[in-house]
Amino acid sequence: MITNRAIFLAFLVLSLCICATSQSILGFTPTSATRETEIETKFKSIPTPDEERRQHRIFTQEPHPAGSKRNNELAEYIRDEWKKQGLEDIVIHRYDVYGTNPKSASLEMISPRHYKALLRETPLPGDDDSKNSAISGAWLGMSISGEVTAPVIYAHSGNPEDYDLLRKNGISVKGKIVLVRYSNPYSYRGFKALTAQREGAAAMLVYSDPQEDGYKKGKVDPDGPWGPEYHIQRGAITYDFMVPGDPQTPGWASIPGAKRIPIEDAVSAPKIMALPLSWHDAKPFLENMDGPVAPKDWQGALGFDYHLGSDRLKAHLNIEMDNGLQPYYVVEGRIRGSELPDEWVVMGNHRDAWVFGGVDPSSGTASMMELTRALGELKQQGIRPRRTLIVCSWDGEEIGLTGSTEWGEQFADDLRAKAVAYINVDEATSGPAFHGQAVASLAPMLEEATRSLQDPSGKTLYAAWKEVIEREKKEGSQSSQFSSSGVVNETLADTRIGSGSDHTVFLNFIGMPVLGLGFEGDYGVYHSAYDDFYWMNRFGDPGYKYHTLMTQLWGVTALRLANADLLPFNFATYATNIRQFVNDLARSNQLSLATAPQNFVILSAARSNERAESKDPVLAVDLTNVNHAIDDFEAAGKKLNASLASNLSTAPIDPQLAATLNHGMMQVERNWLNPDGIPGRPWFKHILYGARYTYAHLELPGLTEAVEKQDWPTAKQQAEILERALHNNTQLLRDLNQRLQP
Ligand SMILES: [Zn+2]
Repeated sequence: MITNRAIFLAFLVLSLCICATSQSILGFTPTSATRETEIETKFKSIPTPDEERRQHRIFTQEPHPAGSKRNNELAEYIRDEWKKQGLEDIVIHRYDVYGTNPKSASLEMISPRHYKALLRETPLPGDDDSKNSAISGAWLGMSISGEVTAPVIYAHSGNPEDYDLLRKNGISVKGKIVLVRYSNPYSYRGFKALTAQREGAAAMLVYSDPQEDGYKKGKVDPDGPWGPEYHIQRGAITYDFMVPGDPQTPGWASIPGAKRIPIEDAVSAPKIMALPLSWHDAKPFLENMDGPVAPKDWQGALGFDYHLGSDRLKAHLNIEMDNGLQPYYVVEGRIRGSELPDEWVVMGNHRDAWVFGGVDPSSGTASMMELTRALGELKQQGIRPRRTLIVCSWDGEEIGLTGSTEWGEQFADDLRAKAVAYINVDEATSGPAFHGQAVASLAPMLEEATRSLQDPSGKTLYAAWKEVIEREKKEGSQSSQFSSSGVVNETLADTRIGSGSDHTVFLNFIGMPVLGLGFEGDYGVYHSAYDDFYWMNRFGDPGYKYHTLMTQLWGVTALRLANADLLPFNFATYATNIRQFVNDLARSNQLSLATAPQNFVILSAARSNERAESKDPVLAVDLTNVNHAIDDFEAAGKKLNASLASNLSTAPIDPQLAATLNHGMMQVERNWLNPDGIPGRPWFKHILYGARYTYAHLELPGLTEAVEKQDWPTAKQQAEILERALHNNTQLLRDLNQRLQP
């Protein structure tokens, strides 16, 4: 017994020594890594679940949609808290944007029977907030005002192929009201609205079928996390996949007095009426429709056959919106860097919520308030980051990523010169499953950071994350041909980044590397009044442990980026990802390798055999040069990795040299921008990352869209742009590497 104990103690002492001496962190010299570990240990000890909960309660006390009095008061609250916490240079930025607020909405079935839609959510037993009289009725941001009496047609998910099926059944939706449903996998409702508009529909109703987020999934609120009968998924239908932000200032900031284009000319402003429904309100419509029975995969969980509809069922819809100009407020605070104040690590979370925003976004807002408290406390202890930390509370994210877009557009030049990275937290937690997104060059540093944190399950966050990914891979491989997960090769981080949150302007317009962090779980009350404090305390994160862990993770990643001697970018990983993107493009478009004559298509060696067997070669685009350019970029990235590592191990590093290297590495992401943007969407300038109209990730957006349209001249041009950017970045990495040679 004594012997065992002695051995154990000796082992313990030994392992502590090993930990203390062998601590290495990407981008840090051994001395700096020791210091960084001390700082992080202090930092991680500050946030508490009680404080997370207290902040969460403040933000979820009242509904606070964009532009509301309450949301503006919360901006002032954040400013005042940040002052107390010790943040610096605190500013509230005002943007005057195209407003979209509901005045009134009504929906009635007038034949074959009468039904007046409730358009409201009923209180839930036990959840006092659900009785709040300030809860809005059903509405969708950016719906136009109008009035129509017309037949109602069921159009499933409202995707283009759904209308094709209706046409095959002889059903036109011109001038009619289409009833569509929220779908799984998620498809942005703005794309459904654009599709309905293109089809000539007069209006779109979108409802939550229990199949997708209700009783078919499990117990519903208040007995479980899924959406109850009356829950309404609000949301915006802005066409921000064309250009986000204020529709009247595309590409520039809506500072007071800014030039504004007429709303009729704004490509991101919908031209259709739209309204969301609970399944309670959708049911009478679906039940009373006739016409052909809808196909099997159009059926839902309401317990009767869904029909496509005819002219028999008619409804009267009236929507009135207030579109006056209104101010949105972005709160910005900083902790100035002690050594490199002109290198910026930017962080942000949106403040506006559809109603209370229990998960979306107030879980993130609570995590942010604890983050700033902890950073402020470090500062009071004399521990400043080497680089400047900037924290922002965005406004109007829910309307069109508006606040972050306007702020990013306003400070684009500064950001392009100074920004290291942007770390976004929107929904901090709806459950225990971690999901981390990263531009591929930052995937290794994000993974490394998760190894230093403890998940509430007792494992490291890294181990818990790995389990999540493995589980999803298993589930994904059963349900689809290609894994739905964005995980490329061995990285846990999802390196396929679409749109739908505030990272968009930083990645796609400014060219900053981005990280996106969130814990996820069963969550059926999204954008409804039931996404509130009660739900979070019952289902989402009852002990606020994941909120706390989010604060820790957010801070550790920010501090590492802020304190690193040499920025922890890994461009070899980036190259591997780009190669994967190109291979996936070839595979999913059945392009194959050029063993065949010139002019034939592309790529991946794995497919070359099939190419040889294929009898009908597709005239396409030759990506051989792109592939070679990726190889060169990868080789340069590997060499730079090795040189950086060896220089870090033989510290200290000359500050002048460090500055040159860091600025060079910051330039890599900027070099992926094409100033002309992707074809048809000039605001989206990144050539590796874009988003589909559904918000889904879209890699190599210009090239991919051209290939999908079989527009080969454009595809060729886009391939050349990609090739040039790869060459530029390869040259840049080689130059940097040169400077590291003794
Ligand atoms: Zn959100």
